[in-house]
Amino acid sequence: MTCVFCSIVKGEIPAHIVLDRDRVMAFLDINPVAPGHTLVIPKEHYENILEVPKDVLAELMEAVKAVSKALINYGYEGVNVLSNVGPAAGQVIMHAHIHVIPRKSGDELFKRPKTQRASDEELSKIAQELRRLI
Ligand code: AMP
Ligand code: ZN
Repeated sequence: MTCVFCSIVKGEIPAHIVLDRDRVMAFLDINPVAPGHTLVIPKEHYENILEVPKDVLAELMEAVKAVSKALINYGYEGVNVLSNVGPAAGQVIMHAHIHVIPRKSGDELFKRPKTQRASDEELSKIAQELRRLI
């Protein structure tokens, strides 16, 4: 099956490109959460950001910084930088991408679910397990 983002890289389908570098590019999300919502992608196909090698990842994050600064110069107050990894996390396009979502105070785009303070015992147990798995 052809990949939509690979088709954008090849110029086979149109996109509103905001940055085009050696191994990465950025274009406007066709279904934006807010005007200027941008996707930053590696030109080569990787399924998600966990698969992207570190030299490309460095270029990807430089592009994320450039896009974020541009959105702030454009008039936004901040950005959310996020990447969905896996369908459970909401990933729909299986070509690695990072969302840069422009924010203004009070826009209420995302609300953190209600949380409560975890116990030190629980945090310590989880941290120990994760250290073992890394
Ligand atoms: P995700 O849920 O992280 O996989 O997000 C995929 C994003 O790609 C969504 O926000 C879509 O609106 C966006 N998208 C899908 N097709 C296109 C396209 N042809 N051009 C630009 N953005 C797209
Ligand atoms: Zn692809």
